[in-house]
Amino acid sequence: MLLKNSKIVVIKIGSSLLVDKNKKIRKKWLSSFAKDVQKLKDKNKKVIIVSSGAIALGCIKMNYNKGGLKLDKSQAIASIGQIELMNLFLNTFSKYNLNISQILLTLEDTEERRRSLNAKRTFENLFNLDFIPIVNENDTIATSEIKYGDNDRLASRVAQITNADTLILLSDVDGLFTKNPKIFKDAKLIKKVENLNKDLINTNFKGINEFGSGGMNTKIEAAKICQLSGCNMIMANGLYLNPISRIITQNKCTLFISKVSKLDARKKWIISSVSPKGELIIDDGAKKALKNGKSLLAAGIKKVNGKFKKGDHIKILDKSNNECARGLCSFSSNEVEKILGHQSKEIEKLLGYITKSEVVHKDDLVEI
Ligand code: GLU
Repeated sequence: MLLKNSKIVVIKIGSSLLVDKNKKIRKKWLSSFAKDVQKLKDKNKKVIIVSSGAIALGCIKMNYNKGGLKLDKSQAIASIGQIELMNLFLNTFSKYNLNISQILLTLEDTEERRRSLNAKRTFENLFNLDFIPIVNENDTIATSEIKYGDNDRLASRVAQITNADTLILLSDVDGLFTKNPKIFKDAKLIKKVENLNKDLINTNFKGINEFGSGGMNTKIEAAKICQLSGCNMIMANGLYLNPISRIITQNKCTLFISKVSKLDARKKWIISSVSPKGELIIDDGAKKALKNGKSLLAAGIKKVNGKFKKGDHIKILDKSNNECARGLCSFSSNEVEKILGHQSKEIEKLLGYITKSEVVHKDDLVEI
């Protein structure tokens, strides 16, 4: 079984597992989950938990309804709820002699290379100290433009940064179905997905999207990040007691098998960016050059979309708008506007200063 061979396992738990519909905290469930985590630890696995629930627990404490909360209010509620959440984990996990720590991340912590490396080091040090990091988004300071907003993608990025072998997304659905199982009786659980683009071509996400707490889209996005970074992903129903043991014994889940990744760590990080800032549309000649492992030059760029700074993540699209690569752009969008279509030797004259000649250097570029 896949988990048996995993050294680092990231487990994401959604709010609906911690708090039931009557706003009661599911303490018995959390105890059973802690027991499962203890079993993984006994087998020498390193475990990271990504837990939602700060806002849900803050709402319970303050007797608020989550639905009507404005952003600034929900940030305050998250600040109140986050310590409730950690208290809950501390009380439960200490009964099983499990040490826990807290890591609150924002989008920039995973999307800026230096910060993501810092985060990686902290995770490694916590593993060495035998602590289980419990991660959540830093909801109290993250605003909409700089926010993940869902812990599915955050968890996949944590899995990628820490080089995890498996990410388990526990929510309130059994996995990915061919159709919305709440509406269609003939909906079938998809047991295994090996190629997201090919295997899911006939799946009607529209219906499926409407059930489950985090929605199906963010889970598919998470699966894409995992597949590209060499991490397998399991989507399973976590509502049952001992949810991890249940995956092992019953195998009722969707397994997303990762492509065996030949990418090095820096390229993995580039390819899994959750917030590319813009797009470069390139011609066929440039597309061919990228296929042959060359850098992207100004001459092959036809159009720029979006506003970005030098060093930002960008998508590279062919002339039919299909994404063919991702990379870090060595120029800002304003600069690319000025030099696109021109030969590299003309760049200095066009911009008025000396720069690199590659718009996206091959070391900063990953072909898809
Ligand atoms: N970070 C949010 C919280 O702890 C949850 C985000 C999500 O549900 O994915 O309340």
